[in-house]
Amino acid sequence: MELLPPFHVATPATIAAAVAARQRQATGRFIAGGTDLMVNLRHGLGDPAALIDLRGIPELQHVTAGPDGLVIGAAVTLAELAEHPAVTSRYPAIAAAATAVGAPAHRAAGTVGGNLCLDTRCIFYNRSAWWREANGFCLKYKGDTCHVAPTGKRCHAAFSGDLAPALLVHAAEIDIAGPDGVRRQPLAALYAEDGAAHVRLAAGEFLVRVVVPADPWPAAYAKARARGAIDFPLAGVAVALRRRGSDVDGLRVALTGTNARPFLLEGTDGLLGTPVSPAWLDRLGRLVQKQVSPMRTTLLAAQYRRRVAAALAQRLAATLGGADAVGHAA
Ligand SMILES: Cc1cc2nc3c(=O)[nH]c(=O)nc-3n(C[C@H](O)[C@H](O)[C@H](O)COP(=O)(O)OP(=O)(O)OC[C@H]3O[C@@H](n4cnc5c(N)ncnc54)[C@H](O)[C@@H]3O)c2cc1C
Ligand code: SF4
Repeated sequence: MELLPPFHVATPATIAAAVAARQRQATGRFIAGGTDLMVNLRHGLGDPAALIDLRGIPELQHVTAGPDGLVIGAAVTLAELAEHPAVTSRYPAIAAAATAVGAPAHRAAGTVGGNLCLDTRCIFYNRSAWWREANGFCLKYKGDTCHVAPTGKRCHAAFSGDLAPALLVHAAEIDIAGPDGVRRQPLAALYAEDGAAHVRLAAGEFLVRVVVPADPWPAAYAKARARGAIDFPLAGVAVALRRRGSDVDGLRVALTGTNARPFLLEGTDGLLGTPVSPAWLDRLGRLVQKQVSPMRTTLLAAQYRRRVAAALAQRLAATLGGADAVGHAA
């Protein structure tokens, strides 16, 4: 670990003041719980002149549930989210994903906005400065070669936040504040498949809140990790599945930990109109295996992560679909 670089800390009390503070600091960074950013700064990953702390802005601090759905402030902690009665009763996948993050201390400090804007991870990046320097750094920061895919010109570091897939399967939207005011967009549009630039926010923009529609479909979240008590997902899957009678009437599947961005599985419409069966689960597993693209960014093999992502999707869908096929292997 390095000594922290010197920086100024701003503590705005309003959204407008936070935007203004960021505009005054060309190399400034927003910070919330700091459980990701501070670790990276101690690894010499970044040298911001200022940190703009978003936790003092009242508008970012509340969860409300009403007829229009669930509204989650970006500075709400994961522990608060996981324990909120409306979340545990109506959005169990979101509660499960928040509970699956790190250890209790991470959830007590870590926030929803920080989790959704988490930096991507790679075994060549989450290292001390001297280790990375000894390896000639890498494309994502200070170097010019990707050690995972040396012939390419793109970073494949994996997005490893737990919350995003659970929000994606509920068709969540986000409010983004910036110099031009506040705009709303689908959460899915926040992300790009580039490990060095996976969050599509312009300079000075930050997440204000997440809006999750009312009447959620039944949904669940599960992850595979190396250490059960505390670890990032090697693959994390959320499934939302609505049934009409025994037929699947609506299906959304979202993944994390396998790609540079969390994403919604495409082609799930082809699985509608029939009950969940072993053949149906085979088709789902193949869809997942085709669309995930894990690379050698973790200590576990990419092929394992590909297969475990498919197996998790199948198990969750089997349970939500009422099928007698739980445990069906990918
Ligand atoms: C040992 C360990 C284990 C962990 N395990 C997990 C895990 O299993 N799953 C998991 O998902 N995470 C894990 N984490 C990462 C982290 O603790 C959580 O993701 C946490 O939710 C991050 O939130 P934060 O508020 O602390 O983010 P910060 O560290 O404050 O910020 C993270 C990033 O988001 C940006 N940011 C913060 N708030 C906003 C906002 N409102 N708008 C725009 N950008 C913003 C920051 O600029 C920074 O780039 C782990 C961390 C550690 C150290
Ligand atoms: S995927 Fe390549 S460029 Fe990205 S962090 Fe890893 S080694 Fe660096």
